Amino acid sequence: MPAPKRKPATPAPSAPVANTRASKLEKLGLRSDMDLVLHLPLRYEDETEVIAIRQAGMMGTSVAQVEGVVTACNIQYRPRRQLIVTIADDSGQLVMRFLNFYGSQTKQLAVGTRVRARGEIRHGFFGAEVVHPNYKVVLEGAPLPDVLTPVYPAGEGLSQVFLRKAIADAMQHIEWRDTLSPAQLAAQQLMPFETAVRLLHNPPPEVDEHALEDRSHPAWVRMKFDELLAQQLSLKRAQVARRAKNARALPVVGQLSAAFLATLPFSLTKAQQRVVAEISVDLCASFPMQRLLQGDVGSGKTVVAALAAAQAIDSGYQAVLMAPTEILADQHFRKIAAWMEPLGVRVAWLTGSLKKKEKLASLAMIESGEAQLVIGTHALIQDSVQFAKLGLVIVDEQHRFGVGQRLALRNKTTSENGGGDAAEKSAAAVAPPVVPHQLMMSATPIPRTLAMTYYADLEISVIDELPPGRTPIVTRAVDQMRRDEVIERVHAAVQDGRQAYWVCPLIEESEALQLQTATETYAMLVEALPDLRIGLVHGRLKQAEKQEVMDAFSAGACHVLVATTVIEVGVDVPNASLMVIEHAERFGLSQLHQLRGRVGRGSAASVCLLLYQSPLGHIAKQRLMTMRETTDGFEIARRDLEIRGPGEFLGARQSGQAMLRFADLTTDQWLVDRARDLAQTLLQDPTAANQATVSAHLARWLGGREDFLKV
Ligand code: ADP
Ligand code: MG
Repeated sequence: MPAPKRKPATPAPSAPVANTRASKLEKLGLRSDMDLVLHLPLRYEDETEVIAIRQAGMMGTSVAQVEGVVTACNIQYRPRRQLIVTIADDSGQLVMRFLNFYGSQTKQLAVGTRVRARGEIRHGFFGAEVVHPNYKVVLEGAPLPDVLTPVYPAGEGLSQVFLRKAIADAMQHIEWRDTLSPAQLAAQQLMPFETAVRLLHNPPPEVDEHALEDRSHPAWVRMKFDELLAQQLSLKRAQVARRAKNARALPVVGQLSAAFLATLPFSLTKAQQRVVAEISVDLCASFPMQRLLQGDVGSGKTVVAALAAAQAIDSGYQAVLMAPTEILADQHFRKIAAWMEPLGVRVAWLTGSLKKKEKLASLAMIESGEAQLVIGTHALIQDSVQFAKLGLVIVDEQHRFGVGQRLALRNKTTSENGGGDAAEKSAAAVAPPVVPHQLMMSATPIPRTLAMTYYADLEISVIDELPPGRTPIVTRAVDQMRRDEVIERVHAAVQDGRQAYWVCPLIEESEALQLQTATETYAMLVEALPDLRIGLVHGRLKQAEKQEVMDAFSAGACHVLVATTVIEVGVDVPNASLMVIEHAERFGLSQLHQLRGRVGRGSAASVCLLLYQSPLGHIAKQRLMTMRETTDGFEIARRDLEIRGPGEFLGARQSGQAMLRFADLTTDQWLVDRARDLAQTLLQDPTAANQATVSAHLARWLGGREDFLKV
């Protein structure tokens, strides 16, 4: 009797497998059939041909496939443990060497088994040899594939065989219709979508392999073009949507701006004047500004931000400035309050560490509109913060915030349209909400090509000039064995009336460990430099304690500041001229550049010493070399892009997701330009046909994933 019951039960155990596969596919971003079809091969393997072992051994080091029968299979222990398998065909024999292997491979490759092996076959001392070939066990006479074998990007636990099948299935179900018309294809000289996709998944034997490899093949060009077109379309649409929103025009450049400029102890550089003017024009518009202010560390972005705030205040609105750390927010508060309070501006201060009473007082000032300028940290995006008349949002070091955090601040309701009495509320429901202008600032320069494609809905201002009188920072890489000499340098700098930072290594896995190293370094320096006053600042200190240390350092009462990366961004103590970075090999380029930017802010010649532990890996070596060779943030960003690639560069956290899978901004700029032009044409001329093209194209390429564009 139980027998009939078993059948319907069988699908159940297999369901979890399907689920985990689905979740693994999901990890790769593959949710729909179209996603699968657009999951294109990373590369191909040519398994269409088998050549004689003798011939393969003489080909130098190119990749070849051979077939033979196993004549020996042994584990060797010297000079290291490895699996050595010899196969032979009529022409000769080949030694296959596996340095990593499973015990089961000795059984799989037992003497007498026939295998096909593919790899870089070299002619070694003992004849033909190959290390870690791809291989499979075959029966004699097994047919060879007649197309190149695609190799797909695969996550852990997803086999190529599974992906191939899933993609082949999906290809049966999708809507193949081309999103571009025959005329458009002809004008752009593009291959039809279906032809391109089918070719990439199953390239015919006669295909130009090199063109596939370097992705210059017309099929690849079509894919890249489509991807870029989708991106340009959605970015442009975001731009149009933004321009349709309302913002308060803040047109008054009046008394406050003028008085502020007059009291500044310096005059603005040309670059500062230019960006101030650009921002000022934007603030006059009645749609929201969305501008990124890029300027290398020390280029003077703070004063530009203050001037933008002054314009908002002059026009009768509030401005808010958010910084990623308390130290930085506090520094801005002091500096800007010192500039503005004498001019009668009320500045409020809001961070997480405020006492309840102080916090309530700040909140009340913000809500009543008494506070004209508000400065703080993430605390500003909490629900309890209500602005009376928010006109301008400024985010410093914007790359340190997630997209969500930046949006939260911009979307802050203002009591003039969100709060207020019921009548006002219903009026607000009719009128579109008013969005504040937004100014983002960053010293991590985004190379121009990236900026154009990833942030097309962003106006960009660049400060490309440092204030006068700065002497360039000299950077040296020093083996940490020579730490004593470095300590001597610190001593000498202080004797000269200067101050120094000593930054402790980044230990990503463990904050506790980072803290420990900081404490130990502090103790070491206190002992080695008994005549100097040394301070220690790290993330675990209470805000007041941090403040005390930072104050002592700013005032020059403390000579050497031992710090974790909490001081990475923004800190400005012009008298500090020596920066020591421990275990510099652990830091990324932009972080090193940020840290180095803490010195070289005054007129004294500054030095940055990058202590490293040898031996250095290849990438670490490149990074330290770059740091020695240049202090130009844009050049550093460009090299960083080269070393890490755009996905890494923007960071998934930052960009929401790595957006371009196929196009390569370093080589495909020409395609970006063409895609941008077509996007422009399609949107400018909203005929029914064009609109259909736009929505079909966006649906195919982006699905529902347009959120990340709302930077
Ligand atoms: P960053 O762009 O890294 O945020 P800051 O705004 O902190 O740079 O400015 C760095 C230092 O340069 C500050 O001490 C600031 O007061 C000073 N500074 C800014 N602009 C000028 C200028 N035009 N002339 C002289 N010093 C300036
Ligand atoms: Mg700054």
